[in-house]
Amino acid sequence: MSLNDSWMQRDLSVLWHPCTQMKDHEQLPLIPIRRGEGVWLEDFDGKRYLDAVSSWWVNVFGHANPRINQRIKDQLDQLEHVMLAGFSHQPVVELSERLVNITPAGLDRVFYTDNGSTGIEVALKMSFHYWRNIGRPGKQRFVTLTNSYHGETVAAMSVGDVALFTDTYKPLLLDTFKVPSPDCYLRPEGVSWEDHSRTMFAHMEQTLAEHHDDIAAVIVEPLIQGAGGMRMYHPIYLKLLREACDRYEVHLIHDEIAVGFGRTGTMFACEQAGITPDFLCLSKALTGGYLPMAAVLTTDKLYQAFYDDYSTLRAFLHSHTYTGNPLACAAALATLDIFEQDNILEANKVLATRMAKATAHLSDHPNVAEVRQTGMAVAIEMVQHNASKTPYPWQERRGLKVYQHALQRGALLRPLGSVVYFLPPYTITEEQIDFLADVATEGIDIATRAAISVALAPGAPSTFHDPG
Ligand SMILES: *Cc1c(COP(=O)(O)O)cnc(C)c1O
Repeated sequence: MSLNDSWMQRDLSVLWHPCTQMKDHEQLPLIPIRRGEGVWLEDFDGKRYLDAVSSWWVNVFGHANPRINQRIKDQLDQLEHVMLAGFSHQPVVELSERLVNITPAGLDRVFYTDNGSTGIEVALKMSFHYWRNIGRPGKQRFVTLTNSYHGETVAAMSVGDVALFTDTYKPLLLDTFKVPSPDCYLRPEGVSWEDHSRTMFAHMEQTLAEHHDDIAAVIVEPLIQGAGGMRMYHPIYLKLLREACDRYEVHLIHDEIAVGFGRTGTMFACEQAGITPDFLCLSKALTGGYLPMAAVLTTDKLYQAFYDDYSTLRAFLHSHTYTGNPLACAAALATLDIFEQDNILEANKVLATRMAKATAHLSDHPNVAEVRQTGMAVAIEMVQHNASKTPYPWQERRGLKVYQHALQRGALLRPLGSVVYFLPPYTITEEQIDFLADVATEGIDIATRAAISVALAPGAPSTFHDPG
């Protein structure tokens, strides 16, 4: 038995994996990883995989990056953890100062949690609580976009709209206002991204006009709806949304958990609209992909509405045990150093251009409806017919074929349903981008030519966003 097989068997006898139908592993091998180095992951049999999806969008500077490793090792010898209520420490102060400095003006306070979903919970609770504290308790509801994803905890699921993840739990969810997404994949022929996103704003305007007295906040994934299939839209939408939120006295929550830290071409997506949200949620690449941590930045105005004598019960009494963990803060500080010292955003322009060039030919593929890109994210949408954009039934799991082919060829490409995408670490080379494009092209050919027949169960969710 190979080492891979033996680790796989030990794993499958005790683990329950995330976002996975475990029965799939009767056919689909699980891949135990022994080590990582740069863009490469290596399994126990010595086979290497180029991590084209940054290990679920977290890893920006490669695996086992020597600079991040060293910073964590240094911190480990100093202080591994201390509770953050009543206590503080150097890395959390330094990180907070730096986050305030590099985010848009006006975001002056940082609250930490230990993953993205709980960061979203914090933003929702703070917004709701703010309106209570200032004497407007009627503002309780949230507005979200169709096809959005904000995490897995119950309130975060409530503001999401990827049927696959949320349909089962509907009875548990908060009642939200759902507004059609400005997603430009769906724009009419010949209409620009900007015009389409601007036109789609009418729906948001109408919801805010009618219900603003009941609404605490609007939450969006700026520019890229990640788990919803890397669907993209124009920054004009965010600009219009900021203006409307001001007019109607509604908070704007930017979930930049996936897109923050350079993914869209700017450090934060909100910069492209020239706006400051009331809440900015960060996680994933925050620690360079090393340790779980999220940061929620907000304004002084918000903070002041909670600042009072204890007995008024206005405080935000929310905590997570590992809040502000020093090792995670050290990883985040090392990550920010690399952004600065290596002028990453500038260097990424060359890589983004190469990603466009390497995938351009796929636009002509009969089963590709669109190749779209925002900064360091490229997505290729496979369909039955490119002209009509007729989607594949999700049950056919075409993306899984691409995933399996890529593994054989030494790449980790994990499509979202029928959407093949690259979200690579920023340490990838131009040659490695070309390699990924070759692998994806082969995988798409195989997946779209395959004769697949499946029983289409009635009432099943219409979208499937993970090949698992
Ligand atoms: C991943 C993600 C989350 C959830 O973060 P977790 O750390 O997985 O809880 C929330 N919002 C967006 C946009 C994400 O991509």
